[in-house]
Amino acid sequence: MEKRDILSMSFEELTAAVKELGEPAFRAKQIYSWLHVSCVTSFDDMTNISKALRQKLNDNFVIFTVSIEKKLISEYDYTQKYLYKLHDGEFIESVLMKYKYGYTICVSTQVGCRMGCKFCASTLDGVVRNLTASEILSQVYEAQRDNDIKISHVVLMGMGEPLDNYDNVMRFLSLITDENGQNMSMRHISLSTCGVVPKIYDLMEKDLQLTLSVSLHAPDDEIRSSMMPVNRKWSIDELLTACKKYTDTTRRRISFEYAMVSGVNDSDDCARLLARKLRGILCHVNLIPVNEVKETGCKKSSRERIESFSAILEKNGYAVTVRRKLGSDINASCGQLRRSSKKEE
Ligand code: SAH
Repeated sequence: MEKRDILSMSFEELTAAVKELGEPAFRAKQIYSWLHVSCVTSFDDMTNISKALRQKLNDNFVIFTVSIEKKLISEYDYTQKYLYKLHDGEFIESVLMKYKYGYTICVSTQVGCRMGCKFCASTLDGVVRNLTASEILSQVYEAQRDNDIKISHVVLMGMGEPLDNYDNVMRFLSLITDENGQNMSMRHISLSTCGVVPKIYDLMEKDLQLTLSVSLHAPDDEIRSSMMPVNRKWSIDELLTACKKYTDTTRRRISFEYAMVSGVNDSDDCARLLARKLRGILCHVNLIPVNEVKETGCKKSSRERIESFSAILEKNGYAVTVRRKLGSDINASCGQLRRSSKKEE
């Protein structure tokens, strides 16, 4: 019999499973708390549980965790980048950042990615597999343990496309916000998508308080399709219609991500067209000088270009930020550490 992935089970599922083992319901609460508050990685650490029950748990369940393979620490700021190893030997990355309001972790949702964005390091070798909810959670738990901290914010912006692993990501969201566990506020979670339109509608139906980030990166189909293959499946207009409905329904502001690539999407005309396209959508625009990944050949826009672009959006009434780059000395943008470790092998 295959052992069940206990860290991915909801409190209700765990309660039912514990009952099936012939144990009283309060045991489920204890076990859930060991897993999601104390974040132990072994049943043997559950010291208020009898030896006999611990044995039963070992026989029936497995705790899937990630382990630290490598860690890079920035010299300029607090940023730490983790290369985590999974139980099947695959690698993923997470980045821990410190802000005035607390610790934020950027987690991966897949090993690799199949979306094929031209500027992105995570997708160069395609997707290997989805992460389980437990493997997404464990990235948070392991970084907390390693630093003896409590992480208050999570961004689903690491390797992978969260909406391409929809069910496991939804399960992760409900686990990390569970009041019996970490009890993280949904408002402290951001989910970033390259624009998987049908799943944006599914997410809208859930009416969650999280922040949806949409990686837009271009104001028209020609440029966007040249940067992001996903745009050939769902056009900009289809994507922005979904975004408009999303904000109208959830009343939550969308954050549009826009990676500035020199000579590709950074002209004043692009800025003016973008301002027209976003009209009527409750949003914020985040401009990001593209991170130059060797294999992609993308060059970042100059500071003057970004300022001019930003000024046009602001003149049109948009809230714009230019992303401050943390951990630039450790290649903190995702995908690069996993690639370099694969090459070393
Ligand atoms: N698949 C999701 C989330 C992962 S990527 C998405 O596409 O949104 C997180 C963000 O980093 C996305 O906005 C993505 O477009 C951006 N990104 C990827 N590679 C980048 C690079 N080289 N420079 C700047 N931003 C990049």
